[in-house]
Amino acid sequence: MRIAIVGGGLGGLTLARILHRRGVDATVYEREASRSARSQGGSLDLHPESGQHALAEAGLADGFRSLARPQGEEHRILDPTGRTLIHHEPQPGSFSGRPEIDRSALRDLLLDSLPADTVAWGHRLAAATPRPGGGWELTFHGGHRAGCDILIGADGARSVVRPLLIDVQLSSVAMLVELTIEDVDRRHPDLAELVGPGNLWCVGVSQILAAQRLGDGNLRVGISVPAGSIGSKRALLDLFADWSPRLTALIEAGDGAPTPRLIETMPLGTRWATRPDVTLIGDAAHLMPPVGEGANQAMLDAAELAAELAAHLAADPGSAIRKYEEAMFARIHPIAEMSARVQAMMLSPTAADDIVRFFSRT
Ligand SMILES: Cc1cc2nc3c(=O)[nH]c(=O)nc-3n(C[C@H](O)[C@H](O)[C@H](O)COP(=O)(O)OP(=O)(O)OC[C@H]3O[C@@H](n4cnc5c(N)ncnc54)[C@H](O)[C@@H]3O)c2cc1C
Repeated sequence: MRIAIVGGGLGGLTLARILHRRGVDATVYEREASRSARSQGGSLDLHPESGQHALAEAGLADGFRSLARPQGEEHRILDPTGRTLIHHEPQPGSFSGRPEIDRSALRDLLLDSLPADTVAWGHRLAAATPRPGGGWELTFHGGHRAGCDILIGADGARSVVRPLLIDVQLSSVAMLVELTIEDVDRRHPDLAELVGPGNLWCVGVSQILAAQRLGDGNLRVGISVPAGSIGSKRALLDLFADWSPRLTALIEAGDGAPTPRLIETMPLGTRWATRPDVTLIGDAAHLMPPVGEGANQAMLDAAELAAELAAHLAADPGSAIRKYEEAMFARIHPIAEMSARVQAMMLSPTAADDIVRFFSRT
């Protein structure tokens, strides 16, 4: 039984790793040319019941502990004048909460745990067509072809596998503009102190200026606004003209041009009629606003699908996919609803009050 996983992000790699541990081989087809082809972005907090659970299933709990930064859980919420609304400090050295880990470190941990030939780099799926005798014929950009019996789409927000199961229209919910400040302790010690070891959110009226400490000594700055295109630092500074200069210094200090990114989501409650030889995990299955659940749920999807496949692959792979999907749809629905609520709250005119109330409750 040949299993093809399209997409070597956190979901696809976690799936390949857990299957491998259970004696099931799979090939991961990844469009990027190599593991270092693209910067992997900021850091993530992995939750005990989802991301951390999946890493334990992958036999990588110790590796995670050696790379994670529990102190990265510290976060502060300020208003546009720089007044502190919330300051959360985790227990020193405690791994009981949601420690942060850089995405690149997490992806390397997963890649290093797989046999070298598991990931076929430079394979961007163009189309999958059903074969007459069952299974799928995969065609990649550049002309490569491959076959498989079971096809798993782990290919993210703009999945090519998803339309085999369902057509969905993505909606844009915000614009996120990102900047990096390199070597912050040496070059901008005042900003290093402002952000601290974890996350900082400065919340205004329908706009957020956030910054995140990475394990490599850089800061990642993210500006969220409801929509619109913001291509330059000047335009960003104009947008935050009435904010404290102590905060907008995060924009001034950004190295290089800002990178804008549209934040899109799938409709709430998206589900499809099950098929015995194709399914989806992660953002391909349930693209949600980025409020801290997407990667965690992608990794939990991987763990749950791997368990079902390992148990039923030989006798009835279709039932493995059906059981995985039923449980996944039920689990994701409330999480996607909560994520949509938090996203709307963050960019509302009353965001600061709402967020303080939200964090005081949890
Ligand atoms: C700004 C931002 C901040 C976020 N913060 C958090 C957070 O703090 N916590 C959290 O849990 N989640 C967070 N998320 C969400 C999280 O990044 C995603 O939910 C998660 O990466 C989904 O994993 P995935 O493996 O499904 O998809 P992806 O990580 O998108 O991986 C998909 C992979 O498929 C490959 N691919 C795509 N198309 C093809 C193709 N046609 N052929 C072959 N390969 C292909 C891509 O190159 C990529 O490697 C954030 C998202 C954003 C945008």
